[in-house]
Amino acid sequence: MALDRLTGDTSMIFIKSEQFFDWARARSLWYLAFGIACCSLEGLIAASGPRFDFDRHGVFFRGVPRQADVLIVCGTVNYKMADIVLRLYEQMPDPKWVVSMGACSNTGGPFREYPNVFLGVDELIPVDIYIPGCPPRPESVQYAFLQLREKIYAQTEERLDARRSRD
Ligand code: SF4
Repeated sequence: MALDRLTGDTSMIFIKSEQFFDWARARSLWYLAFGIACCSLEGLIAASGPRFDFDRHGVFFRGVPRQADVLIVCGTVNYKMADIVLRLYEQMPDPKWVVSMGACSNTGGPFREYPNVFLGVDELIPVDIYIPGCPPRPESVQYAFLQLREKIYAQTEERLDARRSRD
């Protein structure tokens, strides 16, 4: 058997280890403790309390962007806030994901008529999951994390398929 069959980037060892690391990543999604407006009370504070118990999904908050995998944008993103959101996003290490929580960060929500408000945080940074509602319930945030997990698995397979078809 050729050596690259054992050690190349399409080898069983390499593929299985990559699947394993992405599986581990998807089950320990740490989000940044950062809130802009009222959604943060529902999305971050209530959700991380004992009633909804996010810890059982491996979802914890972290106080610094360098230790976070997920940025939950919860609240109205206005022009004044844009630099801060962008800086926090850029300080997070790859791979990283963004959840847009609530009508305000999805579309500007009730404040969309104001000239200083972004009509969605996706004008600023790429968004992986959108949560509708004003405010969304903590259960919706939990569901978003489950969807994000599925997305990570799907991205792994997509990446590995592309590599397999290259050979
Ligand atoms: S979507 Fe509703 S609850 Fe959330 S930040 Fe906007 S106004 Fe507040």
